[in-house]
Amino acid sequence: MRPDLLNPLFAEVTVLKGVGPAMAKPLERLKLSRVVDVAFHLPTGWIDRCPRDELDMADAGRVIAIQLTAVDYKSSAGRGPTRAHAVDAKGNYVSLVYFGGHSGWVKKLLPLGEPRFVSGKLELYGQELQIVHPDIVVPPEEASTVGGREAIYPQAEGINSKRLAAFAAQAIERAPDLPEWIEPSLKAKHGWPGWREALANIHADPADEKARARLAYDEVFANQLALLLVRGEARSKRGRTLVGDGRLRDRLDLPYSPTGAQSRSIGEIEGDMAQNRPMLRLLQGDVGSGKTLVATMALLIAVEGGAQGALLAPTEILARQHYETLSRTLTGIATVAILTGRDKGRVRESTLMGLADGSIDILIGTHAIFQDSVTYKALGLVVVDEQHRFGVAQRMLLQAKAAVPPHLLVMTATPIPRTLTLAQYGEMDVSRLDEMPPGRQPIETRVLSEERLAEVVEALGRHLEGGGQAYWVCPLVEESETSDMAAAEMRAETLRRRFGDAAVALVHGRMKPLEKDAEMARFSEARAGVLVATTVIEVGVDVPNATLIVIEHADRFGLAQLHQLRGRVGRGGGKSVCLLLRGGTLSETSRARLALMRESNDGFRIAEEDLRLRGSGELLGTRQSGEMTFRLAAPEMLGELLPPANSDARLLVDRDGGLSGERGQAARVALYLFERDAAVGLLRSG
Ligand code: ADP
Ligand code: MG
Repeated sequence: MRPDLLNPLFAEVTVLKGVGPAMAKPLERLKLSRVVDVAFHLPTGWIDRCPRDELDMADAGRVIAIQLTAVDYKSSAGRGPTRAHAVDAKGNYVSLVYFGGHSGWVKKLLPLGEPRFVSGKLELYGQELQIVHPDIVVPPEEASTVGGREAIYPQAEGINSKRLAAFAAQAIERAPDLPEWIEPSLKAKHGWPGWREALANIHADPADEKARARLAYDEVFANQLALLLVRGEARSKRGRTLVGDGRLRDRLDLPYSPTGAQSRSIGEIEGDMAQNRPMLRLLQGDVGSGKTLVATMALLIAVEGGAQGALLAPTEILARQHYETLSRTLTGIATVAILTGRDKGRVRESTLMGLADGSIDILIGTHAIFQDSVTYKALGLVVVDEQHRFGVAQRMLLQAKAAVPPHLLVMTATPIPRTLTLAQYGEMDVSRLDEMPPGRQPIETRVLSEERLAEVVEALGRHLEGGGQAYWVCPLVEESETSDMAAAEMRAETLRRRFGDAAVALVHGRMKPLEKDAEMARFSEARAGVLVATTVIEVGVDVPNATLIVIEHADRFGLAQLHQLRGRVGRGGGKSVCLLLRGGTLSETSRARLALMRESNDGFRIAEEDLRLRGSGELLGTRQSGEMTFRLAAPEMLGELLPPANSDARLLVDRDGGLSGERGQAARVALYLFERDAAVGLLRSG
């Protein structure tokens, strides 16, 4: 249960004065549903309202605050603006311009002959001064409330900074004093204020770096503590000691030898699985670095050790592909089965039976493999491929909940920069595939304007004639699956007209699963030369003969995602080409981003730059999964805040694992404040 102390913060936002039905929509847009959300909706900057006695052309461009008196109005016909002409104390003119054609409302706001205190941005319009939509118009008695620094908040239609500031002030008033969870020496070293004071300070002065840093630290600390607790819980249970004797792995007939990085990672995994504590390991490897082989070896170790293994894929397509690859490579070595939401009836029944009686060694599938109806005889290892579609908490709890927790290997191609690994995964051990299989040639990337589409189609024609295959990716144009699909269908249609129906395969998210499989098969068996796809091919699909990829609207993708897509080619020995089509007009940032894609094939470098240019949400894929990592800690603060938060959380858990001492209790409050409740749940039961 959340401590009562926090109740005022978790009350509905409607308890604040001034939050009526009209505010519901705007607040919803900003995702401010509770008082705490308002308190944590931090200002991003401020405006200085310069107090003035007199209008002055030299102030054009500044936000001023001044006493004015309306002398006449001019409304244009129709929907034109209403202008109120006003004078200062010396008789200098300014027009106050209101768009939207409500002259009656303007006349009420600025009655003729009555002084009003007005603030807004002064502009020069020809030779005249004007203020368009003054931010503030109040009677002279209230002049003292205007002027000086005023916080600016991220806004939405129907709610301005002033309202948000007023709501924040009420939220702060309701905020309780909270016990201190920060280690005293750390707090002293940075000169950080207490929690409530920090909250008040940051709303009063958005430039207060100490207040901002403290609040961000709190959030990162809660995150690190939660991850540690979940891990501790998983680790406190005895796992299955799985020692492989190599009898199955030795029978693998590989057309190549593993890279040094693959061998090293397999060794690390083998070492973990031989322990009686469950493994929690992240395998990071750029696209094409050969994660599948590592997963296969890990699964075989589990089987050699007398247990079963499961491989969890994020999509049906990937599950099928893994199934095909693994059942091929493991023929006569281990029994492999597949289970997805699509499998029903008798086939499903027999798979379930095989899992329960142990006749199936390795199961591949989507999240259907963890439904309650699925029971394993002895599940010893779970491999999660391309984890970023799954939630962190879900993943870790999966392990924490099992009676005998299986070893867990999470594989990701998202090249997360080092500073973020800790935030996203906490205390997982990390293996890196930092070496590509030999013979890979870097992918040549070119950026072209969409106007050159015809040339691109011609180039595709030559590529197909030479026996090559190609991907053609149509991204999400708007935030809807329908338009995504429409774009792909339209492109497939034009390509079919040019190259014939048989040459073009098409997959998109709205397709029936069987249809999708059939189209994928046409492409992977080289019956179709080009695969037109939405971003469903983003992860994992492997067709080495496809050495050309065309990506439309490349400027709308995150770089990490572009890199993933590009990684579909460059898998065979031949030279691969990636053509990025961009829109006609590009921002400076978009230009820089695409240039980086052209220059670099290094996933880590791209990820670091993308982080700098776009922020962490995109990179971590939190936008897709709807999982929010941080709201107070900006990505650029993490490098500095994570290490102390991590070591402080660790120290606390070492000293007081049950969080029952004074600081432990305070830290519990922090966990609730940042809604890391799942972790507290573990504490209670433990
Ligand atoms: P990813 O890490 O993106 O999942 P894959 O496991 O799909 O990469 O491997 C990409 C390609 O590289 C596959 O075609 C695979 O057969 C090949 N491959 C993997 N390991 C090696 C190796 N050591 N030497 C040569 N080719 C390899
Ligand atoms: Mg893969």
